[in-house]
Amino acid sequence: MAWEFWVANMSIIKPHTRKTKQGEPPVKGRFAPSPTGRMHAGNIFSALVAWLIAKSQGGKIVLRIEDLDAQRSKQRYIDAVMRDFEALGLFWDEGPFFQHDREEAYESAFRMLEEKGLVYPCFCTRADLHAASAPHAGERFVYSGTCRNLDSSQRFEKSLVRTPAERLIVPDEFVEFDDCIQGRVCQNLSRECGDFVVRRSDGAYAYQLAVVVDDADQGITSVVRGVDLLSSTPQQMYLQNLLGLAHSAYAHVPLLVAKDGRRLSKRNSDAELDALIARFGSHRAVIGQIAGMTGLASTCDPVAPEELLHCFDPQALSESFIDTKSIVWE
Ligand code: GLU
Repeated sequence: MAWEFWVANMSIIKPHTRKTKQGEPPVKGRFAPSPTGRMHAGNIFSALVAWLIAKSQGGKIVLRIEDLDAQRSKQRYIDAVMRDFEALGLFWDEGPFFQHDREEAYESAFRMLEEKGLVYPCFCTRADLHAASAPHAGERFVYSGTCRNLDSSQRFEKSLVRTPAERLIVPDEFVEFDDCIQGRVCQNLSRECGDFVVRRSDGAYAYQLAVVVDDADQGITSVVRGVDLLSSTPQQMYLQNLLGLAHSAYAHVPLLVAKDGRRLSKRNSDAELDALIARFGSHRAVIGQIAGMTGLASTCDPVAPEELLHCFDPQALSESFIDTKSIVWE
């Protein structure tokens, strides 16, 4: 599937529904920033949609700081992200929860998988690459299963030289789900993903495992994130099945990209919040700009998230962003 579609003149101004349907659990969304840099327009867009989805249905937002990657996570970014959310009017109801406090919960999920005989040690060095960080598009590969069938003496020999990562065996099966924005998604786990790392060789639990355990323990029912994480969702749903956990509703928002098609990221200073404030003048103006450009509002006038609620309809999201994987941020 080609990922890059361009969008113009979108409008998702529709009548809204305020409450969760009877019998459904209250909506609980989350902000899950990795404190490895300052927020940029893309992070703010996803947080805004997460907030609007939850709040338009009388729901709550959890703030979870995804600081699994101890080397790249910095206290100054944790402080900044919390200040930024508040200043933007993106208030949360529960948390902050920190992944660095959650070791025991990850370990017990890992033990369950181990008891089912579904994990095996992997001595390949690539195993460690970014396993603690969310693998944004372009950062993943299909593992060929090199270490899956090592016998115990081979494992012993290799373990003398290197501490292994642990991978989860995936079946040759399709995981299918309906994304609230992207529509029907279907992924073959073994062909499009391969056995994936659940614990790194340095003992840190991997993003895929941690996020599933956290979403379940924190009662998350609505996951909103960039479409570059869409391919992680089948892995997370597979883990939920194995661990007996409920699936959330998923909504993968289009990416904001620079004019030349580059994804806005924390690794460069594109559209970082400080630069946006300097350019547009205030936090309200930044929200207004993002809302206007993405079709969440009909103009780019300064606005607070709260003021967007009256014209936000979660049901209309998929229609608005149909076939849209990226939006040009100028
Ligand atoms: N922590 C990830 C990020 O900031 C998001 C992961 C997720 O939403 O599941 O990119």
